[in-house]
Amino acid sequence: MVKYLNISSGNIANIILTILIIPVNIYCEEWVKIGVLGLFHPREVIVTSQTEIPLDVRLDNNEILFMGNNDLHVKYINGKIKIEIGGIGKDYMVSKYTASLNISAPSGFWDVAEFTITIPGKMTRKYSGKLDILRGDDELVLINQVPLERAVEIITFSEMKGKKNRQLLSAFSIVVRSFLKSGIEQHPNDPYDFCDNTHCQLYFGEMEAVYPSLLLEETRGMVLTYEDEIIPPFYCHSCGGHTASSRVVWGMDYPFIIPVNCPYCQESNENQWEAFLPLRQVETLAGSYIQGVAIEEDPASGVVKNVVFTNDGDVTTLRGDQLRIRIGSHLGWDKVLSNRYSIELVGDSLKFKGKGKGHCLGMCLYGSSALSEMGRNYAEILNYYFPNAIIKNTQN
Ligand SMILES: [Zn+2]
Ligand SMILES: [Zn+2]
Repeated sequence: MVKYLNISSGNIANIILTILIIPVNIYCEEWVKIGVLGLFHPREVIVTSQTEIPLDVRLDNNEILFMGNNDLHVKYINGKIKIEIGGIGKDYMVSKYTASLNISAPSGFWDVAEFTITIPGKMTRKYSGKLDILRGDDELVLINQVPLERAVEIITFSEMKGKKNRQLLSAFSIVVRSFLKSGIEQHPNDPYDFCDNTHCQLYFGEMEAVYPSLLLEETRGMVLTYEDEIIPPFYCHSCGGHTASSRVVWGMDYPFIIPVNCPYCQESNENQWEAFLPLRQVETLAGSYIQGVAIEEDPASGVVKNVVFTNDGDVTTLRGDQLRIRIGSHLGWDKVLSNRYSIELVGDSLKFKGKGKGHCLGMCLYGSSALSEMGRNYAEILNYYFPNAIIKNTQN
């Protein structure tokens, strides 16, 4: 015989319904794995709960330790992970070695934990969701598992720090969601989907300033598509006057990247920049001595297609973006800011002179901000930079 809940019995029925409903909502939601704080190469971290919810720590042998509201100290020691919970003056003390650990709220209906990660002497950031800690190459690998929609909000506000225009933030949140859902393989050899720095998208965790999530409510679930597939809509800080094709910059075709004229980023701080780099250092990066240098420019966008170095009869050709990335990763990202530049040999140096910041592909963020201030809405902004992409709502 089936027993029915007596709805009129008020509180008890509500509690039962809540218990039944919450796990369904949580488990239906899409989650994403983001590698965090990797730039710091951490070998020691402290995890602290930020709410009254006691946290659980699951070890590689499936043993579950009750962390409660104590601090969890995690250290990388000789290829192993050592964990300590509690300590002097605390009511609970555990010291163990493990190959990996997962920190979460107790399984069931409180599945989203809130906690801080501290790298001693460096910084503390707040996160929500779950945290996996794995052994990396001589360091700890920290992976924050977080509901995708929360990741969209955090990335939007991390990248758009200080921006308030609702249409700009809405447009950008669609770009972020599309990037996360497009299936793009940014880290095929890592145990996470995306990192938290400019290689993927900035992700600073739950920030001090609490942005109202409702700001992005209108566009929740929306993505950019091309031929019914969700696209990764690439974006740059400022394009310098005209966006480029992916063929020019990366040597490969993305049909949803259409070069467009962008007179809206002329006021950007990076509209004029210069860098002098020692010839010897560039020679090392180019793998050749340099006696002469010439630029092959894309006539449509003005972006550098190839850089041609000559030495006696030898010719070394690098794509403009390839040279920028090599200089950035070896000499610093504050030197050659974009793919729109000229090069001149000046004594023992190469003088780079350019405009814009970033790869100059897809959405120009400075230009988008200017368009939003001119009254354009999120759809008009996205349509400007991705003219053949279509906005769809994945929640319908
Ligand atoms: Zn990345
Ligand atoms: Zn622009």
